[in-house]
Amino acid sequence: MTNQSYDVLIVGLGPTGAVLAGLLAEAGVTVLAIDREADLFPLPRAAHFDGEIMQVFHRLGVSGAAEGLSRGIPEYEFRSGTGQTLMRFENRPPQGSRWRASYMFHQPALETALREKISTLPGLEIALSTRLTAITRNDASGVEAQILGPEGVGSITARYLVGCDGGSSPTRAMIGGGLFDYGFDEPWLVVDCTASDEEGLPQHGLQVCDPARPTTVMPMSPLRRRWEFMLLPGETAEDVLEGGFVEGLLQPWGRPGQLTVIRKAVYRFHGLVAEQWRKGSVLLAGDAAHQMPPFLGQGMCSGIRDAVNLAWKLDWVLKGRAGEALLDSYQTEREPHVRAIIETAIAMGRMVCMLDPAMAAQRDQATAAGAPPLPIAPPKAGPGVFAEGEPGTYVACAAEAMGGGGFELLTLSGEAPDLTEGFGHRRVSADSPEGRWLAGTGAPAALLRPDGYVFGLGEGAALIEGLKAALGAAV
Ligand SMILES: Cc1cc2nc3c(=O)[nH]c(=O)nc-3n(C[C@H](O)[C@H](O)[C@H](O)COP(=O)(O)OP(=O)(O)OC[C@H]3O[C@@H](n4cnc5c(N)ncnc54)[C@H](O)[C@@H]3O)c2cc1C
Repeated sequence: MTNQSYDVLIVGLGPTGAVLAGLLAEAGVTVLAIDREADLFPLPRAAHFDGEIMQVFHRLGVSGAAEGLSRGIPEYEFRSGTGQTLMRFENRPPQGSRWRASYMFHQPALETALREKISTLPGLEIALSTRLTAITRNDASGVEAQILGPEGVGSITARYLVGCDGGSSPTRAMIGGGLFDYGFDEPWLVVDCTASDEEGLPQHGLQVCDPARPTTVMPMSPLRRRWEFMLLPGETAEDVLEGGFVEGLLQPWGRPGQLTVIRKAVYRFHGLVAEQWRKGSVLLAGDAAHQMPPFLGQGMCSGIRDAVNLAWKLDWVLKGRAGEALLDSYQTEREPHVRAIIETAIAMGRMVCMLDPAMAAQRDQATAAGAPPLPIAPPKAGPGVFAEGEPGTYVACAAEAMGGGGFELLTLSGEAPDLTEGFGHRRVSADSPEGRWLAGTGAPAALLRPDGYVFGLGEGAALIEGLKAALGAAV
């Protein structure tokens, strides 16, 4: 560390911390990012991310790497124990998006690419094997944090500290505040394999809702597969991790010698949300703020959405373009979005984790009779920095057309109003995807936020005025 004072101290360099660090450093914010481990968390956890997250990787210059180490799957199917399809989701991208709806990948490989990329950014310092041990000051002027690294203890001051320190977040414990628990708590054995070849292996995501042993199969990057097996009553982690058990479960899925187990672990899948995401100058993001069962593949995606939401707000507050109260919109916008995802993931989990054969048979019959599928429309951001009546939507084609890191006014014709720093104007062609979207809204202009969400639709100058009021400072 060359410096002891930074704009932002990021605690934890998992995917949430890495994306936040990258976006802040690109905006010219000085950042120290610390992680208590010397290396990346070695165990693959996330297997899926979506097109909105690919766009974030694109902004950070790692979409090429992400595409190279991931694969698309045609669909995600929920199947009964007797082979009947209960639900099926096609991997169809949102209209006009250049990215797929879903990518399957190997988390450590992607995190490696992300870390390599961000470590080249000026303004960002990374300190590994360095842990946060205490927050000794947290007030309106900033934070003072104690850290312990290879060179001993140190004291860091920063205007803001963001705890991206995972499910057991020490930062969350330090700022206090409870955890809302959805009461979903199921033990699963997670097994990652490499495959010698793809022959006979499922090419799509599969939830086998068999009460005899609920099972998930997910293709990851090429020649990598994930199986997840629910533990049955009476089974312990020690039982299922012992030699031979996993191989027995995998036996129906591959030819002898085709699959090699590279890791196995027992996780408890649960749904938790921190009640307080900000206290003074300290904020929480990612698994530190929320956790969910993996049935929708959205835990990491949600943490990255937090990082994107927070990055521009911290940047604008630090540059004096917005008042401090802007940071309060972080939780009000993000919490309803992530709760909607957690609730859908839990509903899916309840459908999958059904061990009673009679109830499972009832579920299968109801689904065959046309029971409504689970709602899976992309959720909206909650109330915050949006024009009145604007629902907090991410419109993929519009977000993907954005040029820089600021706000952008999209118009089909006409001159831009006078714009100050942090605002751009783009006149879009009527036959581009974003032009067709804008024409379809009937509005002359759309004002997009730096995170790609639509601030509002209407007349350009009025949108800019509305935004200035919402930001609480002259911009
Ligand atoms: C089986 C399984 C399957 C999953 N599948 C998916 C999926 O398909 N899609 C998806 O989007 N998500 C999925 N997830 C969730 C995803 O893996 C997590 O949501 C994601 O890794 C969280 O990222 P994070 O950066 O918030 O936290 P983490 O990745 O946990 O990173 C936290 C970091 O903080 C560091 N740290 C902790 N304490 C300190 C300290 N005191 N000082 C300094 N550093 C500290 C840790 O070393 C760690 O590097 C899955 C999870 C599991 C378990």
